[in-house]
Amino acid sequence: MNFKRRIQLFVTFLILLVSTILTVSFLYHEDKIATEKALTSSQNIKSVYDSIRKDLEDFYIHRAYANLRSYGIKEAMVNRDKEKLYALTLPRYKTLREENPHLLIMQFHAPDGHSILRMHRQEAFGDNIAARRPMVKLTHKTHMLHAGFEGGIEGIAYRIIVPVVENNVYIGAIEFGVDPDYIINKLVRTTKMDTLFMLHESRMAAADTQKYEEGYSGYRFAHLNPFQRPLIEEFVKENPALNQRIIHHNGKDYDVIPIYLVGKNGKPIGLFLSFNDVTMGYQEKLQIILQSVMVTLIIILLLIGIIEYAFTRMTKKITYQDKYISTILNSQKNITIVMDDGKIVYVNNAFFDYFQYRTVEEFTQAHRCICELFETTESENYLRPQMDGMMWSEYVLGHKGVEHKVKITRNGKISTFTVDIQIMEYDNVFRQVVVLSDITNLNNLATVDMLTQVTNRSEFDKMLKYSISVANRYGRAFSILIVDIDHFKLINDNFGHLVGDEALKSFSSLLRQQIRLSDIVARWGGEEFIILLPDTPLPSAITMAEALRQRIEVNPFETVGQLTCSIGVAEFDTIEEADDLLRRADENLYRAKHSGRNRVVA
Ligand code: GH3
Ligand code: MG
Ligand code: MG
Repeated sequence: MNFKRRIQLFVTFLILLVSTILTVSFLYHEDKIATEKALTSSQNIKSVYDSIRKDLEDFYIHRAYANLRSYGIKEAMVNRDKEKLYALTLPRYKTLREENPHLLIMQFHAPDGHSILRMHRQEAFGDNIAARRPMVKLTHKTHMLHAGFEGGIEGIAYRIIVPVVENNVYIGAIEFGVDPDYIINKLVRTTKMDTLFMLHESRMAAADTQKYEEGYSGYRFAHLNPFQRPLIEEFVKENPALNQRIIHHNGKDYDVIPIYLVGKNGKPIGLFLSFNDVTMGYQEKLQIILQSVMVTLIIILLLIGIIEYAFTRMTKKITYQDKYISTILNSQKNITIVMDDGKIVYVNNAFFDYFQYRTVEEFTQAHRCICELFETTESENYLRPQMDGMMWSEYVLGHKGVEHKVKITRNGKISTFTVDIQIMEYDNVFRQVVVLSDITNLNNLATVDMLTQVTNRSEFDKMLKYSISVANRYGRAFSILIVDIDHFKLINDNFGHLVGDEALKSFSSLLRQQIRLSDIVARWGGEEFIILLPDTPLPSAITMAEALRQRIEVNPFETVGQLTCSIGVAEFDTIEEADDLLRRADENLYRAKHSGRNRVVA
């Protein structure tokens, strides 16, 4: 996998991680909010219940007072005139029933605890009701208003018992009783939660035991609809304290909120159970997860795109720089080679043009090292593969400030190059940049004789000195021949100087053809040439000189015809200097001339 893909993968992983952490922490937080919501909703229900109750009490206190203001009512109460009380109250009772169909009870109580009149059940009166009904008894005792759930003949009802006082004398009470359904309906309408009322067993009068027959944990409920039954069964399962909890039923989630009703004496009355459908909450969570997945995906795609773009730009720039550099390198006539630990890693076009290879691989298959192509010459100025026990490149790097040259033969043509090596370091990788500059022509100007194209005298002097040092160091024999054309003056005289020049050219090229590659021919001056024969002791030198002489003798030279030459031969003696050797060869030449020319003298 490339670098770009790795970065993209890493970024994707990072974003996924961060997004997961954020989503989970958000959802966790959401759970807390849900709990808080549940708490507030239970408080809400409680306060809704309180305000319903308060409204109910206010309403019936005022209705009671309105009724008492009607002429004759109080008098009828005091007189316990049941007929008169009924007749006076009936129109108002009818209206009250129409106002609230859940009004079950309207009753007049005598201070002694007996019932004066039940508007809802005329036939039953005169019974001692306070004996059965603690709230009635309490009102009689305290002459204060009391309200709350209590059972009676009509069953459980929310009862408001309003004390009646006339001229500071307590004359009894008026009671209104409302069916619990009234409160439940109001709760359901206000909170939008299905709500159920359960009555505590202690509050159950004989009349209610029929209606409130089923129950749990000391609370009983009246009619359950088929929808509520499984919910309540689920709610009470392993929950005897009837605590608030979230239940799952039919793929839905309900927060079941109990509101406990406690009497003034601290004793339980009953409870409302509200079923808060929180299923939406889970869907919201799903939505949050989906949203976060979407946002994450978008961010990932965006970042992957940005990385893609940035890399493309970068690659373009690198490609451009690459091209730029290779254009510069390829426009150079100098051969440039980049080597990594001796291995060629890059070459410019000049390399291919000169060495005649199409690829680096082709070249490296044919040559293990470029140094294989270096000519070994009789001059220490030229590099060889090994120099003083070092690799040539190390040698060059170790000898800065000196001109290093190599001779390379390609297609029979010897070229001379200067060698420069630079070290290129990047990220701890060291590479050598080798530049070979072709100085063949420049070199020739300095080392080659212009007319005959053989080595000139000054170059020969250097080579001779080098050969002497090699011979002294390694004990290798070498010889020299001085070749002088016989009666050359006559050629000039007979054919002119230009023809003489041509003859000199032909003569020198003939010399070159006759000698070995390692031998060196130089123009010593005028019509004299000198030949250095490395690794050649005197006898071999004489043989070579004789062969040379004979070859020249039979060669037809253009215009001038036959030419002969005299040759003086000398082998180097390790005790002598260059001048001694040259002098001895020259003396031999002199002898050759004076003993009749066209001969070899050693
Ligand atoms: P020998 O060596 O046999 O004693 O006789 P020689 O006539 O060859 O010797 P000498 O030294 O007397 O004359 C050499 C002549 O070579 C003189 C000169 O005209 C001629 N010569 C020298 N250099 C050149 C050159 O560059 N071109 C031409 N055309 N002639 C040259
Ligand atoms: Mg001469
Ligand atoms: Mg001569």
